[in-house]
Amino acid sequence: MTAGTGEQRERERGFDHTEIEPRWQRTWDEEGVFRIPDDAEDPEYVLAMFPYTSGDLHMGHVRNYTITDAYARFERMRGESVLHPMGWDSFGLPAENAANERDTNPRDWTMDCIDSMKTQLKSMGFGYDWEREVTTCEPDYYRWNQWLFKRFREEGLVERQGAELNWCPSCETVLADEQVEEGPGGAEICWRCDTPIEHREMDQWFLTITDYAEELLAALDELEGWPNNVREMQRNWIGRQEGDSVEFDLTTGDTVEIFTTRLDTIHGATFFAISPGHEVAQRLAEENGDVAEYVERVEHADEDEVDETSGVFTGEYATNPATGEEIPVYVADYVLEDVGTGALYAVPAHDERDHAFAEEHDIPIKQVVEPKPDAEVDPEDVDVQEEAYTPDGVLVDSGEYDGLTSQEAREKFVEVFDGEHRVEYRLRDWGISRQRYWGTPIPMIHCEECGFVEVPDEDLPVELPEFVHTTGNPLDAAEEWKQVECPDCGGPAERETDTMDTFVDSSWYFLRYVSPDADEVPFDSERASDWMPVDRYVGGIEHAVMHLLYARFFTKVLDDIDLVDGVREPFTNLTNQGMVLGENGNKMSKSKGNGVSPQRIIDEYGADTARLFIMEAAQPEKEFAWSPEGVRSSYQFLQNVYGLAEEVAESDDGLGAGDAADPASAVDEDPVAAYVDREIAATVATATAEFEDFRFNHAQQAARDVVSLLRRYHERSDADPAVVERGVRTVVKLLGPVAPHVAEEVWDLLGGDGLLAEAEWPEADLPEDYEVARRLVEDTREDVRDIVDTVGIEDPERITLAVAPEWKHRAHELARESDADNLIGDLMGHDEIREQGDAAADFAQDLQAEREALSDVLAPDEERAALERAAWLVEEEFDAEVVVQSAGEADDDLAGKAAPGRPAINIE
Ligand SMILES: [Zn+2]
Ligand SMILES: [Zn+2]
Repeated sequence: MTAGTGEQRERERGFDHTEIEPRWQRTWDEEGVFRIPDDAEDPEYVLAMFPYTSGDLHMGHVRNYTITDAYARFERMRGESVLHPMGWDSFGLPAENAANERDTNPRDWTMDCIDSMKTQLKSMGFGYDWEREVTTCEPDYYRWNQWLFKRFREEGLVERQGAELNWCPSCETVLADEQVEEGPGGAEICWRCDTPIEHREMDQWFLTITDYAEELLAALDELEGWPNNVREMQRNWIGRQEGDSVEFDLTTGDTVEIFTTRLDTIHGATFFAISPGHEVAQRLAEENGDVAEYVERVEHADEDEVDETSGVFTGEYATNPATGEEIPVYVADYVLEDVGTGALYAVPAHDERDHAFAEEHDIPIKQVVEPKPDAEVDPEDVDVQEEAYTPDGVLVDSGEYDGLTSQEAREKFVEVFDGEHRVEYRLRDWGISRQRYWGTPIPMIHCEECGFVEVPDEDLPVELPEFVHTTGNPLDAAEEWKQVECPDCGGPAERETDTMDTFVDSSWYFLRYVSPDADEVPFDSERASDWMPVDRYVGGIEHAVMHLLYARFFTKVLDDIDLVDGVREPFTNLTNQGMVLGENGNKMSKSKGNGVSPQRIIDEYGADTARLFIMEAAQPEKEFAWSPEGVRSSYQFLQNVYGLAEEVAESDDGLGAGDAADPASAVDEDPVAAYVDREIAATVATATAEFEDFRFNHAQQAARDVVSLLRRYHERSDADPAVVERGVRTVVKLLGPVAPHVAEEVWDLLGGDGLLAEAEWPEADLPEDYEVARRLVEDTREDVRDIVDTVGIEDPERITLAVAPEWKHRAHELARESDADNLIGDLMGHDEIREQGDAAADFAQDLQAEREALSDVLAPDEERAALERAAWLVEEEFDAEVVVQSAGEADDDLAGKAAPGRPAINIE
């Protein structure tokens, strides 16, 4: 028993994660801990964005799911019924590509991935209600995509639109704008394969999300549980602009519409600009070599190097309807094709970008707005030749309209120049057609006679035909599947061979969890209305726009067609977890070789260690770097807790200590036990508040601190076993959500009732004056250390701490309340202070010096009691006797040095 190092002994005695983790996972499963019955009333709905079925669980997943699992377990222990489901975002191109590479089919590949990921999720100890599993590539799920598509169509929310679409020649698919990324050299590239995209004109199915643009925008203000940056990204994406359109006649013979928010400046227009993609620019490029060259150049330009002032004069002119003047027409890259109409009149005097362009091309700058008389800026100080003046103001040099305010002018001009006042959005309708196999078939049939005809509800789902390897769309090649009878006329017809964007799948999956087996409806409306919205939604920031905007759109439509009742937003609180970086602080990636496999950590240290490390490393929104030392430290901490629990269990003589944080009566006469008890209660109060705030790292730090305190206390000969046991039983509950297996094991070891996963979360208020007492003790210990160091006392024998006298506390209190300029005079005006003579004057001077920094202190008796409770810590640290004295007990010399919150210290 004496052989071996301490570490080896600990390993022999410690828990074996390979044994305990699967065992507790089985038990939770058998006991149905995470099941939630259909008749549960408005459960707490905790949800992680479901994973794409790539086959591998990476560290980002582990972090994402640890956060929701810990929160779900916390809420369950607090007595909530908790809905915490999991499913699979399993349609999409990568499965098809993988199938092509591996000579299999997307379905088999996807199902294998699901099997493997499910095993990995289970080995992490995540508590999901697997009876509610949802798999989007299964016909019993995607039939409802088809059914919903038809309901949307009935509402006029589905349109067939010809559109210039982004086309990835490598993936051979249309990409949504959101799926086009900026690549090296500013080129537009495919988000999946990085191939530069092309543009093609095609007829597509669209969901008219723009019908909801206004509500999607306005409701963002109410989403207070969402991060501001996500709301701002959605606002920008929707891009609302209120303004006016007017038409300009060009010498080309075209009439071009412009849209502006500053119609008041129209008299100052000195040139006209169109985007390189504008149809007039495209046509001019065919006739004009300079224009052709410019358009060609900017279309292939590096966006980082683009010159905001680049442009080419077309040789054409536009007539300003306000002045009748002809102004030159430029093609300019700074005019964006998808903003407004892709054309604008430029007013260099009142727009910064127009100004820069005018300077570059020597175009006149003409001021037509000056500051209002009551503005802070003097009109004399405005020099538009130097710099654009952009605020609203009063019109000048605008003919008969001089003197109108900008607002008045806009209202007037829209009538006078035959314009239209309107709201424009940057948001475009959602093209959902994909020319690929692995997605939901769009339930439409094309008949030569009848045009597009819907597949009748009773014929849903339209199931995918067997996969064939082809370079194009396998559905096009599936002749037998494609040829059908027209449901209307019975004649020969063809199925639509496009499938739906997979973002359709993820736009309502959170509703399917409510009733995953429903086969008459996509989900049980009544239950969905009760259980929704999701209370806590956690996932990556990369979904800030697409998924989260589409899910909001779907939810609003579903409410409007009465499939849910009064649920207009799907997610009340949203958290975007930060990235887990590699050890070197760089993004984890296979190519950089700095990836950390969750499986390796689970094998070596166990799931609890991985979970605890991730939660201790940073709060959920922050990124952090993987650290092997951190992992070992988390592991060691769990072994320490387990070791302490083992010792407690072995020495347990059947006291049957309660596990609540309420102090036993014996504690009253035992200051050391009282100290420990207060720390336990404070830890509970802190951890609870931090869990509620999603600051799990702070909660874990509090748990760590109290465990080391319990360890020290336990090693004392006078330790009260009931207090230690109560402490360990409490702390293990605080660890339960994050390190559930070890916590369950310790709970069992200590004879806890039932499963920890179902035990009651401890409750405690922060003890009275806890923070003040804690600061007092910390400051005092720090002072003792300083004295020992400075004076160089080798081996202190006795440390005396003397509390300040009553009158100093009174003076301190008066000083904090006083608003007199002369604090010393004010204090000396009080008899009970003045009668202390010189000491009072000195102390008043000290108070004056620290006046701004005076903080809360305890009354003398309480200060003494707090020091007595903590004296054992000082005793152990310095191996010396510690005596705490009131001012009356201490000798005058010592007592004279004491101040409230700063006891005098004598070391012998
Ligand atoms: Zn691609
Ligand atoms: Zn027909």
